[in-house]
Amino acid sequence: MVNKSLNTEKLLYALRKLLPTEESYPLHEPLFSGNENKYVQECIDTGWVSSVGKFVDRFEVDLAAYTGVKRAVAVVNGTAALHVCLLLSDVQPDDEVLVPALTFIATANAVTYCHAVPHFVDSAYNTLGIDPDALDSYLSEIGEIRADGCYNRKTGRRIRAVVPMHTFGHTVDMDKMVNVCEKYKLALIEDAAESIGSFYKGRHTGNFAHIAAMSFNGNKTITTGGGGAVLTNDEELGKLAKHITTQAKIPHRWAYAHDRIGYNYRMPNINAALGCAQLEELPRFVEKKRRLAEKYRKALEDVPGVKFFVEPEFAKSNYWLNAILLDKDIANERDHVLETLNDAGIGSRPIWELMYTMPMFKDCPRMDCKVAEDIGRRLINLPSSVRLGE
Ligand SMILES: *Cc1c(COP(=O)(O)O)cnc(C)c1O
Repeated sequence: MVNKSLNTEKLLYALRKLLPTEESYPLHEPLFSGNENKYVQECIDTGWVSSVGKFVDRFEVDLAAYTGVKRAVAVVNGTAALHVCLLLSDVQPDDEVLVPALTFIATANAVTYCHAVPHFVDSAYNTLGIDPDALDSYLSEIGEIRADGCYNRKTGRRIRAVVPMHTFGHTVDMDKMVNVCEKYKLALIEDAAESIGSFYKGRHTGNFAHIAAMSFNGNKTITTGGGGAVLTNDEELGKLAKHITTQAKIPHRWAYAHDRIGYNYRMPNINAALGCAQLEELPRFVEKKRRLAEKYRKALEDVPGVKFFVEPEFAKSNYWLNAILLDKDIANERDHVLETLNDAGIGSRPIWELMYTMPMFKDCPRMDCKVAEDIGRRLINLPSSVRLGE
């Protein structure tokens, strides 16, 4: 590249203070520094590697304790957790479910697993997640409230639920979100896949909806290899979540009796063993991630043309992935910046493509998503592994 812009060079120079040349830096790598080996070895030694075992039970109890919910149910991955959340929120075929236009594809995919229709919503600049004010005024135009819920005047379909997602660990404004849901009779489901360790006004994410989904994929703040969880403060829903993720089998010593359609979505014990060890480390991980974010913020303070994304004032974020926004007038330099950083061993990526640009979602209903489109053009994620905050 011959036409390196001034901005890119200054940016690279600033980042080198945190990320020296000797190494390369993936976007997010896991850290195993605690009891991971010991607990996984115990599974192998005892033969308890599969879908039941003491680590599954312990992981669910520890996760509920950390997040403050009544019940956590461990599942195979975050996408399955979202599917379960939607099923248990009575999302019916042909219902619409409001999801952010700017999210990881799993949020929208899970809606289609219920034969429902994703309906895309714009983002807020202060959180990167759903803008509850914009959603409120949009629903006041297109929504019609009937006895059994909110209907879309344009499509005639019921709008059953909304799924705010806490982007990169920054929380949506949940007080406002809860108000919108009450006003329009919508079920509230949190996609908390990225936000373990993130708090809104002192309360952990996943506590605001009647049901929430988490992910423990390899690139998340803590990992179980692959894994997820359903969180709820409703004991009955918690029991149902366990039931339908266990093939809806009626517990019995030998009989195979099932009382509804179920799924094989349980998290294996060997994955939960990893999860128990990672949960022990989580408070330290979050501290280190927040320290890393502060280092980035300082290092980038005086770099022209870029702005480090800082948590909204009501949130204490886990800073799962650190993000910068290029100024609007240099948005077209994004791919050049990405190329320069990746060439230099600095694993950086753009935010996801907007959901409605994908062929399978192009005809879905949506509001005007001009903020999401603008963020989508200008955002770059930077290396965010826990160890970088040490
Ligand atoms: C990671 C992620 C998921 C899905 O989790 P998996 O465990 O990979 O299935 C869902 N939603 C969002 C926003 C995510 O970032």
